[in-house]
Amino acid sequence: MPRSRSVTTAALAKKARATAKALASQYRLIKASFGSARRTCGKPSCRCAKGFLHEALAFTYKRHGRSMCLHVPKGMQTQARQAAEAYAQAKKLLQELSDTNLQKFEIEGQAIKANGRPTRDAERGEV
Ligand SMILES: [Zn+2]
Repeated sequence: MPRSRSVTTAALAKKARATAKALASQYRLIKASFGSARRTCGKPSCRCAKGFLHEALAFTYKRHGRSMCLHVPKGMQTQARQAAEAYAQAKKLLQELSDTNLQKFEIEGQAIKANGRPTRDAERGEV
């Protein structure tokens, strides 16, 4: 069953622009998970050397396949959480943008197949 043609490529282009704008607003994103990490401080005489690890807030992330950790000071906790959430939101918006553009591409492809030319929206440069 063919997809409804009620969605126009112009409407999809508008949606794509709005999604791209929302994506750009997540520019403070950090691709890392944020939470508490348990670690040693390196001082041989410290209690952590006996297994009582320090607990600290940190970003954990991958770099060149290695797991990395970045300490987050307590005063930056909210900022850090928001940055990690911004990444998750950006990832969602990027998927949405791709889905919208794929749908638009499909409609344009069907129009070319049916009429031998692009949709009027495409001719007006709405794409
Ligand atoms: Zn220690």
